[in-house]
Amino acid sequence: MDLQKLVEDVLSDAEVYRGHGDPASYIPVLAKVDPKKMGIAVAAKDGTVYCAGDADEPFSIQSLSKVFALNLALDHVGAALWNYVGKEPSGSPFNSIVQLEAEKGKPRNPLINAGAMVVCDSIMGDGTADEAVEEILSFLRELSQDSTVSIAQNVAESESQGGFLNRSLAYFVSAFGNLTNPVEEVLSVYFRQCAIAMSCRQLARAGLYLAFDGKDPATGEEVTISSRARRINALMLTCGHYDNSGEFAYRIGLPGKSGVGGGILTVAPGVGAICVWSPGLNAAGTSLAGAVMLEKLVERTGWSVFV
Ligand code: GLU
Repeated sequence: MDLQKLVEDVLSDAEVYRGHGDPASYIPVLAKVDPKKMGIAVAAKDGTVYCAGDADEPFSIQSLSKVFALNLALDHVGAALWNYVGKEPSGSPFNSIVQLEAEKGKPRNPLINAGAMVVCDSIMGDGTADEAVEEILSFLRELSQDSTVSIAQNVAESESQGGFLNRSLAYFVSAFGNLTNPVEEVLSVYFRQCAIAMSCRQLARAGLYLAFDGKDPATGEEVTISSRARRINALMLTCGHYDNSGEFAYRIGLPGKSGVGGGILTVAPGVGAICVWSPGLNAAGTSLAGAVMLEKLVERTGWSVFV
């Protein structure tokens, strides 16, 4: 298959959706991003990344960071993570507090905000917030093979200043003993990981190991054990898009994770990793044109975990 032609065709298939949806406005810096941006990147088995549109422009990865942070937390504490966070879809928005009360402060899964805070806490362990952030950044730099990956400090500050709901979630989780570090330190890791800026090209390359059982197919390096890679994919499929996860699985049929910066990272097992970006979101916080690009891509390729 000519993958360069594929990404170009998919971009033009979705052209009518350019600018559709609303960029996240509750993080003021994100509201200023040009809603007409659209990019797509497919990382293939040999490590080549095929790109079209604005695929080299860094954007705020937001919740895409939760996938890589989850991998690190599992490396740190293994199955003990599941004492503090569950593995079930939430059926609720990314920042919902409703279930937390009924379920005694144990977040439903690691891909909603409250669960991602537990993940940040596990990465911190006995160390500092700065060390945890450095670990997440180094992991992403290594995976994307790009040492320029960094945090947009203005986004991190904007998130922290407006982060009343995220603070409420974190204090709630902590009140039930599901955080071991001070809440503000855990939040400082969480806000900074969300504020990492990366391009579609970098993210597709970074996610490639998840499509190949935890091994980077181009370098042969084992990033994580195969069972862990499979389980991360399972969580992405069932929980990666909040209360839109069922719809995403139905339309696209691949494990994926959305972020309110407009990025979606998707894994086609045995084939490659795909990242799309367009800032306009649907009501559930998933990129509208991004989801259309992925839908067109699976229509053209037949890539699906349900084949
Ligand atoms: N930083 C965002 C928040 O915590 C992440 C949400 C998302 O990307 O879905 O509100």
